[in-house]
Amino acid sequence: MVVSHLNWREILGSGLKAAYKTLGKVESPEHNADDPGEMGVAFQVDEKKLSSAEKEEYDFGFKRNAFNQYASDRISVHRTLPDYRDVECRAILHSSKMPKASVIVIFHNEAWSVLLRTVYSILERSPPRFLEEVILVDDYSDQEHLHDQLDEFVATQQKVRLVRSEKREGLIRARLIGAEAAKGQVLVFLDSHCECTPGWLEPMLDRIGQDWSHVVTPIIDVIDDKTLMYNFNPLSRGFSVGGFDWAMGFTWHALPNHEKERRKKISDPARSPTMAGGLFAIDREYFYHIGSYDPGMEIWGGENLEMSFRIWMCGGTLETLPCSHVGHIFRKRNPNHSAKHGNFVQRNSVRTAEVWMDEYKYLYYDRIGNHIGDFGDVSDRRALREELKCKSFKWYLDTIYPTLFVPSDAEASGEVRCKAHFPKVSQVCLDSADIDPETSANGKEVQTWPCHGQGGNQMWMLSQNGEIRKDKGCLDYNDGKLRIYPCHSSKGPQDWKYNDDNSILNVYSGLCLEISVDGKVIQMAKCNGSDRQVFQWKRQTPENEILAGG
Ligand code: UDP
Ligand code: MN
Repeated sequence: MVVSHLNWREILGSGLKAAYKTLGKVESPEHNADDPGEMGVAFQVDEKKLSSAEKEEYDFGFKRNAFNQYASDRISVHRTLPDYRDVECRAILHSSKMPKASVIVIFHNEAWSVLLRTVYSILERSPPRFLEEVILVDDYSDQEHLHDQLDEFVATQQKVRLVRSEKREGLIRARLIGAEAAKGQVLVFLDSHCECTPGWLEPMLDRIGQDWSHVVTPIIDVIDDKTLMYNFNPLSRGFSVGGFDWAMGFTWHALPNHEKERRKKISDPARSPTMAGGLFAIDREYFYHIGSYDPGMEIWGGENLEMSFRIWMCGGTLETLPCSHVGHIFRKRNPNHSAKHGNFVQRNSVRTAEVWMDEYKYLYYDRIGNHIGDFGDVSDRRALREELKCKSFKWYLDTIYPTLFVPSDAEASGEVRCKAHFPKVSQVCLDSADIDPETSANGKEVQTWPCHGQGGNQMWMLSQNGEIRKDKGCLDYNDGKLRIYPCHSSKGPQDWKYNDDNSILNVYSGLCLEISVDGKVIQMAKCNGSDRQVFQWKRQTPENEILAGG
């Protein structure tokens, strides 16, 4: 039987053994279809059924790693994964002259089974002739198994090398240590809790081989922190590229329309304004040419945006390759972050802002109360920007990230004050906290509240494409409910018009925003021009069109 388009979920439905047959896999002591977690399936732990010793092990694993080590320890470190690639991707013939990769895996403490599964997935799913080496960089781990036991493991592996830092360096300098040790033409950086899938490496090497200034990332799939299930979405359902918000957080976004239109095939590289940071590939010489990393950054965070801005502004490209899939365990808290290192994420972000963001840095500073703190010396990084003759941050925003909402571009901003006066409360304003897109999928309710003039929950911005915004969330009218939802820039329930008569129209429903007679509820009603439908909201004029603080 020829399976032209493998749908592995369907295949799995008919049992793992059948799946192995279909995929032409041979069972072996290391690859037994009945073993837990094989083919990326979930490993379910019923906590209630665990003995007290098992429960202790389970809790300890979670506490230490913030993922289910108990499950990982029971899944083969060679577990199989389906070939997730789209048919179009599998049909691509890669050149035999592609550059070789040094895969650099950095870690500060990592569970043994998770680390080994990462390493084996690289070794077993990379064509040997394109894999120069795997470099493990131990960033001063204190867990016992990462000492002698790891040395002994590395001694058995021809292509694996281990370097250790002499003090805790943080992920930025740990990657620099790995890069220094690397011999391959291409550096591929991975976290220590990843699983590479069949065909993961070739698209990246191919793309970099075409031009040294192509910096690329795979599609990063989610390995569940609880069940270790490999979650895969077919390309037909779309995939995400990276962005950021003005608090300097990394964000994921569906591929924007302009990029969908620019690309011709489902397998074409997709330009990404930023990268998540943990998983990417770059030509080794280009890595140094473009300024490697800012060695003044500590521990974790911010370096991904810094590198993303730098690549785009200084002449490179940053792309997500839809044919390359690598899984990563996303966790809900980070066991490596401790207060003793200070506010390193903010410090790293301020360094980024100071060097790369020009006057836009004030938008970030506004969001951290303008307390930027001591960020060290960035003169070398500024000199690098000069030397490389990099473009402006405005150019980056306009050209590479046109869909990002820039608060200083708002057509109206500030409090939204209803003209009507109400008993007791006099005038009320629209009021809502912003959302965290990761946790508030169901949206937040909008309420009315006496106007307080302090911004915060009463700060609203009207974007040029008709959204009524917070920094992250958008006012959304759907199914009769007014809520704050993650902004999706696809109009519909998030499409508003602030009319000349100061009424606020929801274009999609044709209804107007209205405050109830008692002033307590915000609702949608047929537009009628009453004072309860008239709102004062400061419109942008050429005079006040300046960046905050700038
Ligand atoms: N890491 C490191 N030193 C540090 C902090 C992190 O080597 O001081 C490693 C960590 O073990 C992981 C990678 O850097 O392999 C990325 O960190 P993490 O996975 O915690 O970040 P996340 O993926 O949650 O953003
Ligand atoms: Mn990680």
